[in-house]
Amino acid sequence: MKITSIETHVCNARMRNWIFVKVVTDQPGLWGWGEATLEWHTRAVVGAVEDISQLLVGEDPRRIEHLWQMMYRQHFWHGNGVVRGTAISGIDIALWDILGKIHGVPCHELWGGRVRDYIRLYCHLGGGRMEDFYQTRPDDAKRFGELALQAVEEGFTAFKSMAVPETMPLEGLVPIRYAEACVRSMREAVGDNIDIMVDCHARPSPLMGMQFAKALEPYGLYFFEEPCWPETMDDLALIQRAVATPIASGERLITVHAFRELLEKRAVSVIQPDITHCGGLSEVRKIAAMAEAYRVAVAPHNPQGPVSTAASIEFGFATPMYSICESVHQDVPWREDVVSEGFSVERKGRIVRPSTRPGLGIEIDENEIKKHPFEQEVLQRTFYKDGSVGDW
Ligand SMILES: [Mg+2]
Repeated sequence: MKITSIETHVCNARMRNWIFVKVVTDQPGLWGWGEATLEWHTRAVVGAVEDISQLLVGEDPRRIEHLWQMMYRQHFWHGNGVVRGTAISGIDIALWDILGKIHGVPCHELWGGRVRDYIRLYCHLGGGRMEDFYQTRPDDAKRFGELALQAVEEGFTAFKSMAVPETMPLEGLVPIRYAEACVRSMREAVGDNIDIMVDCHARPSPLMGMQFAKALEPYGLYFFEEPCWPETMDDLALIQRAVATPIASGERLITVHAFRELLEKRAVSVIQPDITHCGGLSEVRKIAAMAEAYRVAVAPHNPQGPVSTAASIEFGFATPMYSICESVHQDVPWREDVVSEGFSVERKGRIVRPSTRPGLGIEIDENEIKKHPFEQEVLQRTFYKDGSVGDW
């Protein structure tokens, strides 16, 4: 059995171009789907997949670990940057899809079988409509409460918000009070039984991140995400020691090496590997095994397309420390036209029941993809009030 080609299929989904990776074999009808979506780097990732594919065409797709080692270590440059890491991830995910199809079982059965009955999903405020999630003004506390109620009415028991505003390295009380008002509004709207998460997008400096974390501690967040840059991991650890709120990070980290450092520093209580960036399903399973040794929860970053979601779900059914899965359900109205999924989502509670279909349990409609060709992603640029560059 041999890999005959590795294709990329780009599908514009407004905020992102989904990059689907199709690994084709010499067996009739046998191929696998992966995803390598990396917003604002679409052409670079498509090129990286093409560069890496020279290593794999002609090889046996069942030797996934061996192929992973080739993708990561050959061509001299290791695959620990985000572009190559994403390309490797997309191919790796497709290889697991192929292996499941060969054996006629869902991927989670290849990894030791089901460790839970269902997976809980959380949504973004607004369901993935970028205007609601990213452009709700932080001073509009009432709107945060309304969108929170809407998420609960849609069946979710957990949701994430961007309640922490863009903040200069040093500011006074104003942004802190804004964030507090927004979180208070959400908590008052939904009560104590719903889990609220706040993502800082690593906008604050470490000290401002600390102040936000302390101010929001009384509201019992399920987790508080990226309060400062992952480059300042020691400061993440200081914030985690200062508050009881679980601190989460990891969506920008690639491979076990980066996660090892995060875990060794006891910097977080929740890791958020992105299966489409961190090295794919092969690597995320090693990362999760390390997290288990530290008793740290795993909640994959998953705002991308449908193959990323299917991979995140299959991984969750075989991973003991997995706690919850990110999901977007209203990013584009035609999401379900592009993919047929094997898992089912119960509206009440938004819980996922496992797929019984082989591999990732999905099929992608290539004709539907063609209706949404590549478009340049909308520029998202942030400048502080003095004109200096900020983090989006
Ligand atoms: Mg995030």
